[in-house]
Amino acid sequence: MSDSGLIYLLWSDLVGMTRTRAVPLRDFEKRLESGLGWACAGQAMTPFEHLADNPWGPVDEVRQIPDPETRFEIPPADGHPALHAVICDSRPAPGEEWGACVRSFCRNAVADLKAETGLDLIAAFELEFLLEGPDFVTEAPFSFAAAAYQHSLLTSLEEMLSAAGVAPETVEPEYGRGQYEISCSPRAALKAADAALISCEITREAARRHGLRASFSPKPTLDHVGNGSHIHLSLADSKGRNVTNDGAGPLGLGETAARFSAGILAHMDALIAIIAPSPVSYHRLGPHHWSAGYRCIGWQNREAALRVMPGISRDPEIAAKGFNLEIRAADCTASPYLALGVLARAGLEGIRRDLALPPPAKIDPAEMTEEAREEAGITPLPASLDAALEALKEDDVVRGWFPDELYESFLSIKTWEADFAKSTAPDILFARYRHAY
Ligand code: GLU
Ligand code: MG
Repeated sequence: MSDSGLIYLLWSDLVGMTRTRAVPLRDFEKRLESGLGWACAGQAMTPFEHLADNPWGPVDEVRQIPDPETRFEIPPADGHPALHAVICDSRPAPGEEWGACVRSFCRNAVADLKAETGLDLIAAFELEFLLEGPDFVTEAPFSFAAAAYQHSLLTSLEEMLSAAGVAPETVEPEYGRGQYEISCSPRAALKAADAALISCEITREAARRHGLRASFSPKPTLDHVGNGSHIHLSLADSKGRNVTNDGAGPLGLGETAARFSAGILAHMDALIAIIAPSPVSYHRLGPHHWSAGYRCIGWQNREAALRVMPGISRDPEIAAKGFNLEIRAADCTASPYLALGVLARAGLEGIRRDLALPPPAKIDPAEMTEEAREEAGITPLPASLDAALEALKEDDVVRGWFPDELYESFLSIKTWEADFAKSTAPDILFARYRHAY
């Protein structure tokens, strides 16, 4: 077998982008220990050609060190060469940890959850995206025509995802013009974030190979349907048994899962800054879009920020396996690692403080009276990136989860993005995010 070709070392950054440097494939083994260098300040890249103010300046450097377990290959097809890639941890030196590495942030959060509760966080991302390109034809929402029109792309997408070890659970046309979706299968949190990264990049590559572009921007234009990245969570015991509904708690939740959910709800406003972290995210969020406009939990309620989803089977054991919590407000401008990290931390906080679950929203919360919402403690989610960043700054508990350099550079980037949005015409703003993501 020829050993020519490239392998791309990938790392995910604070704006949820996959950055890279490549080495010849034959040199890969040599790169396993110390990887490749990268300016620390690179972690303060905005989604555009702009470096936000950051604590490092031009001097410090980290190593991007491959995690060989994440290596994947996109097979060659129709004149497109094979693409080899591997995901890295950012480390000051082999074996050391960097405070601004998103993968370490996620790994540490789920390790703490496990250490204190004995439970593993299992996660899966549902990724919505827009396909666009010359002569692209829009078929009816969810229609077989929309699927058949892109059947060649969707088929190679499934093949590429399977070859990379991240076979999707479903692939489908969605509601919006040119909108499609893939659902990842559930796996342990860090691997689920890796799978989300790989799935997005493979989707982009499959679209490219078909002369199209895939965009995961939460709101491609003001009048497009939003693209969500709903995150499904469940808790598994040491035997791998899903214990999310192993009791008689509210909404069929087990007692621990109810406290876990209460923790997420208690910190939701601050979490929004991490899971829906771009100015255009707030054109997606809001009532009546099935994206979530209110901080509440609901049984199968697609307008609740936290939706309880039962498993469906006549067999109670199989049904229990599928039971999960869906975080609906998240989108793909978020780092999947930061998103899962803060969700794990918020849930753990709820367990530690024995938080009680507020009453659920039984209908669309926007249709409840003001008084009914107040009684149930249901409040609107932050309506802008500025408001979400304020909520983040005001939540000392959430602040405490972040190493200083991660927190400072994240806020610096996001403050820049919020200001950029104010000084940019809406059409240009949507186009910039549509192209960046
Ligand atoms: N597109 C919606 C969103 O922005 C979600 C639609 C659905 O329920 O799949 O989250
Ligand atoms: Mg969907």
